[in-house]
Amino acid sequence: MGHQSEIEKKKYRNWVKGGLAYKYLKQGLDGFSDDVVKQEQSRILGSINCTPGTICNQCIIERLRPIHACRTISAGNYECPWGQRKCNCLHLKKKKCRLKVCDFIMEEILQSHESTPPTPNWTNTDIQKWCTEPWEVAKCFINAPGYSDKTKAAEIDISGLLHVFINNINLHSHLACSMAGNNIFIQVRERRNKLFHSNTMEMEDLEVAKCIDDIVRILEDPKELSGRPEAQEAVRKLKQLKESKFIITTNNEVDVCKEALLFVSQKSDELKQVIEDGKIEVRYVVDTYTTKAKESIEKCQNAAVKEFNEHSTSLYERVKKLETNIPERMEKLKTDISERFGQIESDVSSVKERVTALESKVREVRELDAIRDIYRRHFDYVEGKQGNQVHFQKMLIMIFE
Ligand SMILES: [Zn+2]
Ligand SMILES: [Zn+2]
Repeated sequence: MGHQSEIEKKKYRNWVKGGLAYKYLKQGLDGFSDDVVKQEQSRILGSINCTPGTICNQCIIERLRPIHACRTISAGNYECPWGQRKCNCLHLKKKKCRLKVCDFIMEEILQSHESTPPTPNWTNTDIQKWCTEPWEVAKCFINAPGYSDKTKAAEIDISGLLHVFINNINLHSHLACSMAGNNIFIQVRERRNKLFHSNTMEMEDLEVAKCIDDIVRILEDPKELSGRPEAQEAVRKLKQLKESKFIITTNNEVDVCKEALLFVSQKSDELKQVIEDGKIEVRYVVDTYTTKAKESIEKCQNAAVKEFNEHSTSLYERVKKLETNIPERMEKLKTDISERFGQIESDVSSVKERVTALESKVREVRELDAIRDIYRRHFDYVEGKQGNQVHFQKMLIMIFE
């Protein structure tokens, strides 16, 4: 084998090792995640001022009125005190929770969210199970779609689990590491995105070493994780992975390729959804402003006509005054119209920015689809290899029997 292909093979082995490191991270984190998520739900339910065991299964996210009320900025203009652009508090017709449970939990979720303004994801959760299923509350902290049918850590991919730890500030109390700024959880999550975005399926030696070290650091967190047997077992496997004599089996390859393929497919679907939502939003904004622009023009026209009529019904002796006034008034109307258009133009430019952002997402989807094809072909290849191995083993057994 030539030197170049030797290096390529090594980088591919690194890539598989990187994928395995994430598999072990998940194995080490599943039980812990289930436990802390359960504790967090109990904490919230315990702090609600109601009869213990109260369960509400009547509320619907879209119709729930939160506890916080919106603020009035000017007549007919409201804002959410949490700074959310879309919030049920802005729609006065929403209904309160009959049992005063769901609105309380919703407020707790907003309070616990790491980002400002809070950005909980209401699409993965079933509000009617907030009182009974801990993960229905926790899933509000996963900023990606595709988790609505998941009920425990074992069913949630590592990216989803990392999201929950990053975004729910109450879970930080279970960790000794600093969760401020660009913390280790964020770095580990981003590295996984990079790993599974690689169309060469390669990873450098230093990168894979750093990847494994950071994952070990998470699992050896001294507060609670380091004392858990499954985390210790995962660390043992991760340390083996770092040894040069570590042998990558075809099964390992199949596992990692499957995971990479799943990741790329999910990411692509996710982006397609973002693009669809964006299109609807842009269309809505454009429609609203078109209506507004038409109204503005009509208003100015009507004012001009009214002005003219008023003046024309005046007495003859005021004609002189009129002659000087009308051009002045018309000038003012002109500036009014151009000011209004200036406002509309700035709104339109923000829509244009949104469209540009969406276009870049469209490009990303195309790239992901190309990577997915590469992964699929490779997956078919390693799966075939796995099949051949099984076949070969069976033949050996037959020969020696
Ligand atoms: Zn609000
Ligand atoms: Zn309710």
